[in-house]
Amino acid sequence: MPVNVSGVTRSTCPYCGVGCGVLVEPDGIGGISVKGDPDHPANRGKLCSKGSALAETVGTAHRLLTPQWHGESVDWETALNGVADEFGKVIAEHGPDAVAFYVAGQLLSEDYYVANKLMKGFMGSANIDTNSRLCMSSTVAGHKRAFGTDTVPGIYDDLDEAELVVLVGSNLAWCHPVLYQRVMAARESRDIRIVTIDPRRTASCEGALHLPLKAGSDVALFNALLAEIDRRGAVNTAYTDAHVDGLDEAIATAQASEPDVTGLDSALLQEFLDLWINTEKVVTLFSQGVNQSSAGTDKVNSIINCHLATGRIGKPGMGPFSVTGQVNAMGGREVGGLSNMLACHLDIENPEHRGVVKAFWQAPAMPEQSGLKAVDMFKAVGDGRIKALWVIHSNPAVTLPDADRVRDAIAACPFVVVSDITIDTDTAQLADVVLPAAAWGEKSGTVTNSERMISRQRAVLSAPGQAKPDWWILAEVARRMGWEQAFAWENPAEIFAEYAALSGLAGELGKDFDISGLAVLDAQSYDKLDPVRWPQSAAKQGGRFFAEGGFFHTDGKAKMLPLVPRATAEAPCEARPFRLNTGRLRDQWHTMTRTALSPRLSAHLPEPFVDMNPRDVQRLGLSAASLVRLSSAQGHAIVRLHQTEDVVEGDLFVPMHWTGMNAPSARIDALVAPVVDPISGQPESKATTVAAEEFAAAWYGFAICTTQFTPSSDYWARARTSTGYRCELAGLSTPDDWESYARSLFDLPDATVQHMSDSKRGRHRVGFFSGDILLAALYVGPEPVALMRDFLVGLPGQEAPWALAGQACGDMPDPGAVVCSCYAVGRNTIKRAIASEGLTSVDQIGGCLSAGTNCGSCKSELAAILKECVSTQPVCLIEKRRLA
Ligand code: SF4
Repeated sequence: MPVNVSGVTRSTCPYCGVGCGVLVEPDGIGGISVKGDPDHPANRGKLCSKGSALAETVGTAHRLLTPQWHGESVDWETALNGVADEFGKVIAEHGPDAVAFYVAGQLLSEDYYVANKLMKGFMGSANIDTNSRLCMSSTVAGHKRAFGTDTVPGIYDDLDEAELVVLVGSNLAWCHPVLYQRVMAARESRDIRIVTIDPRRTASCEGALHLPLKAGSDVALFNALLAEIDRRGAVNTAYTDAHVDGLDEAIATAQASEPDVTGLDSALLQEFLDLWINTEKVVTLFSQGVNQSSAGTDKVNSIINCHLATGRIGKPGMGPFSVTGQVNAMGGREVGGLSNMLACHLDIENPEHRGVVKAFWQAPAMPEQSGLKAVDMFKAVGDGRIKALWVIHSNPAVTLPDADRVRDAIAACPFVVVSDITIDTDTAQLADVVLPAAAWGEKSGTVTNSERMISRQRAVLSAPGQAKPDWWILAEVARRMGWEQAFAWENPAEIFAEYAALSGLAGELGKDFDISGLAVLDAQSYDKLDPVRWPQSAAKQGGRFFAEGGFFHTDGKAKMLPLVPRATAEAPCEARPFRLNTGRLRDQWHTMTRTALSPRLSAHLPEPFVDMNPRDVQRLGLSAASLVRLSSAQGHAIVRLHQTEDVVEGDLFVPMHWTGMNAPSARIDALVAPVVDPISGQPESKATTVAAEEFAAAWYGFAICTTQFTPSSDYWARARTSTGYRCELAGLSTPDDWESYARSLFDLPDATVQHMSDSKRGRHRVGFFSGDILLAALYVGPEPVALMRDFLVGLPGQEAPWALAGQACGDMPDPGAVVCSCYAVGRNTIKRAIASEGLTSVDQIGGCLSAGTNCGSCKSELAAILKECVSTQPVCLIEKRRLA
């Protein structure tokens, strides 16, 4: 397909592992328009809310434009020489294991390859790990144990062809929305069943059979399934005899396993077992709920065991299917971004593999042992073993478990380099050197999605200021450390060709990742490369794996494993009676460095919150809209209460996205225990035990402003709006003078001030105007302030002399919290339309309000609102509470 037609360039969305193709058109003044690519096989023209809002996240306002050395702008020559010198000195004085790289699934494969080659082949340490360790390293370990290498057997088409889709620990509707829409489309065209296995009721439970199993009991559940497969004679003995080892031991262990630990009703459990066993075409799709566990690798293998026993693998419509979190998490696995891997799925601790790569790279120094995995890496930063750290496109000061300790460790590390597009991250703020990296839209390379599809990301904009691609920055440092020849590439096409050639040697060693068929691409053909699924070798091009065996263990067989269920590392106790689950929201990405720039994405859920069961709310004596202080053995957080039956008693859910930049008290990974799976090293991010109590503030506030402002109160959470910024605030001590407080908050010296006070009741409202135009307003009360927030956020910059009333005036309706981000349709608007127009389906809501008709990411929320409006039965309220 043509790469560039009439100024439109084909590229790839930079967010999740679905890897959707996009059509990008620059507007000539630094902006772009973005649409789904109808010819990309992953999304066929669809985009979710995040992909649809990509155009709102480009621009230079927030960008780092020059290299910074201890806060001073320097030129590239100074910065690169300095970084090379510092890393060289540390290696010379303390050895190669005193340095480390922490990289990200947001890197392109070419960038990743260069970082891996520099650290493992030339600096001589394996201390390079990726934030994908936190995302899917348990899957990598599970695949390797079962298949002999990290192979995803299936492809997305299997979701179109399956008769049963089982989502395990995956809120696919919010975290991989386009894939979820694909499953929904299949369900509309024929009779398929969906099962969602999750302790929490999520948007993905809408219309599905929901198994609310107890946290960490997945192995017991899939052991029950394996035992039942055996009991019912459903083992595919022709397949297992020919292609599988370990069947008898795995079944014997499964039979001894106790299904009661799942906490599932026995009839519900039996319904699931019947459905799975009686449906030949079953895809078991899993994600972070499986991986982010101290038994994550066992969970992965317990799922694979059932597919191997039945031979339901690698055939149309069936197989275990891991979906990756980040757009190039898979690429990171392929290039050796994990500290225990070499490039092309080769193993660092295998002498033959090491020898082949060393010779290919002509590497002077190659470690013989695996490097430090993420959690251990930052422990080593903290205890001084690592003295020079380079963080590339990641924010570990927020995202690692025990994040406060990690933040302190980075702050104390003698030399820290951060490459990023902005300096406004918790981690970049701690760095000695910050290097301006090119952003999505400015750089070229490849990414691999969850179905092994390699797609091109293409530059459509010039990098602003002195920003440079990551491969260039890394290669320039390598050259300055004396390795000119090995890092002499001129462009990403040359890097890709080298990488593809190395993969051919991996293929000769019997590995699955072989794209040697692409090693012949010159710069022009690389630039035109269409999406292509690996492998691409003389022996095999794309397709599925393992329908006819052909596993990558030396005997060619798969391994089923006997798996004894293990409890989560921490059990709730008197001091910490709650179990904290963390995860993603529909419209935000990681630590919000890009998605928070989009007003419409920020409108969906603008404040950090905790989901808590109503019975726990009652027990703790909390009232609606309370602030809740959560405490673990590691740290504390303050978040807004959201009362919901979506979580069971004793369970809590808090989203992972907020940082010191936009809600310093809601850095939820500060609470998460640094407990990891013993095989994969992946942290248990969903089962930390915590205490909860009211954060009894003396005052609560809500503020809006045309420009960004940063409060200094005990609690604040700021979000972008279409007119400026909104912020929730609260404090333990009351300022003497609210007008002075508001003046210092907004810094608008030339504005006219209106001040309304009811001191007796502790209510104060301060507005800042230019004529009748509202510039900013602060609303304060002794309890969470009831206001029409979703109406008020539209006022800054408008004529609104009555703004301090805090209500809509005249016949202007309050739209309510945004549900459909694409068309900015609020909950109240939807409910009014359902009532007044007699709407009875999601399609009718779309026809009336357009809600849900663009990306479709909100369809399950629309269905829930519809159900709530037309039914007296309790329903899942997926939309979160607002104070209005
Ligand atoms: Fe991007 Fe959404 Fe597609 Fe993921 S599903 S790649 S976030 S458009």
